[in-house]
Amino acid sequence: MTLLAAYVVCLGAIVGSFLNVCIVRWPKDESVVRPRSKCPHCQHGIAWYDNVPVVSWLLRRGRCRHCAAPIAWVNYDKQKYRKKKENIKKTIDEK
Ligand SMILES: [Zn+2]
Repeated sequence: MTLLAAYVVCLGAIVGSFLNVCIVRWPKDESVVRPRSKCPHCQHGIAWYDNVPVVSWLLRRGRCRHCAAPIAWVNYDKQKYRKKKENIKKTIDEK
C-alpha cells in the first residue's frame, strides 16, 4: 500500500508539473516540449536534474542554481491572471 501511495504521489507531481507548463505556455502559443524550462530571472536553462518535480525545488530551496533568485512554487503570470479575474467579474456584474 505504501508503494502504491508513493507511486500515486510521484505520478501526481509529474502530471501536475506538466500541466503547469501547459498553463503557462499554451496562452503564449509556445510548445510544451521545447525550449527547455528556464529561470524566469536570468533566463539560464534548467538542467534535467534541477527539473525533477517537487524534489528539485525542495533541494534547491526554491532558488535558481545559477543566479539564486527565488523561483515561484507555481509559475504563472500574476498580473495576467488578475486582469482576467477582473474581466470575468465585470462580465458577471454587467449581466
Ligand atoms: Zn536564474
